[in-house]
Amino acid sequence: MADAHPKHLRGAPLAKEIKAEVSERVEKWKERGVQPRMAVVLATDDPAAEQYERTKAKNAAKLGIDMDLVSLGVECTQQELEARLAALCDDEKVHGVLLSLPLAPHLETEPALSRIHPHKDVDGLTPANLGLLLAAREEEALAPATPLACILLAESVCSLEGQRVVVVGRGRTVGKGLLPLLVNRNATVTVCHSRTRDLPSVVREGDLVFVAVGRSGLVGPEHLRAGQIVIDAGINWSEAGTTGDVKTDEVVEVVERITPVPGGVGPVTSSLVFRNLLRGIELQRGEG
Ligand code: NAP
Repeated sequence: MADAHPKHLRGAPLAKEIKAEVSERVEKWKERGVQPRMAVVLATDDPAAEQYERTKAKNAAKLGIDMDLVSLGVECTQQELEARLAALCDDEKVHGVLLSLPLAPHLETEPALSRIHPHKDVDGLTPANLGLLLAAREEEALAPATPLACILLAESVCSLEGQRVVVVGRGRTVGKGLLPLLVNRNATVTVCHSRTRDLPSVVREGDLVFVAVGRSGLVGPEHLRAGQIVIDAGINWSEAGTTGDVKTDEVVEVVERITPVPGGVGPVTSSLVFRNLLRGIELQRGEG
């Protein structure tokens, strides 16, 4: 865990609040004879991904949620993956289905995600749920968990209304979902990606900076300035441990606030997945 620093914007307090709400709602469903249950599907050779999902399963158990880990192995074909996702979505006892990303390199993410029923899409990544955000109909969607975690952390320290926001990364898991969430909150948004020219000068323009690339230490002192709030969604696993995309130790004294990795966006993301599971049950039963 990253060392505590007064400028660290930690996820634990927010995650605790969300989990308390989730735990109460789980109890209510159990009283009605419904045992909330979700499945996490893994099709990757990355042992860190399985470890990450095992931690999620332990957190689920603490909240009274059943979580099945479905490891399809790295040899699994696209057809097998899609068939398994569809079968889990057809199973009435499974209320949520999450596809662990990234997939093994021979597998395609987009058609696989499309097999998840939008009401069981606890990670909020299906095209249907993303489309609802773009149509500014967020309340009808299962919101993308990591992007919403980033937003809630930022909103815990300031309003997004009218702010200049720079997003680094337009990836499928984080950047894509962040954009409509920010625009819906009246932020003025600039999106950076691998073709952006002069990244440091663009990033310095932001009042808030969201980074979601998946490259350890991509953003450093040359990109950041005093007064900025930095939300680092990156997760990079190596033998040295887990790091984000920002050189946190080198910029923490300069910026206003920064989420540490680990301990920032991650804990909020997993609590939002569980909240989506409960919202999904309501939608599946027509109680939404
Ligand atoms: P992704 O789909 O791999 O997309 C990466 C993005 O980064 C792309 O838009 C890419 O640009 C951009 N990029 C690559 N190199 C760049 C550079 N040098 N300068 C600027 N932009 C660059 O990523 P993702 O799935 O959205 O995930 C992003 C990160 O979030 C990963 O580290 C992932 O592990 C992490 N994550 C965190 C959580 C959490 O709970 N904290 C949950 C899920 C994912 P192009 O579009 O031009 O290729």
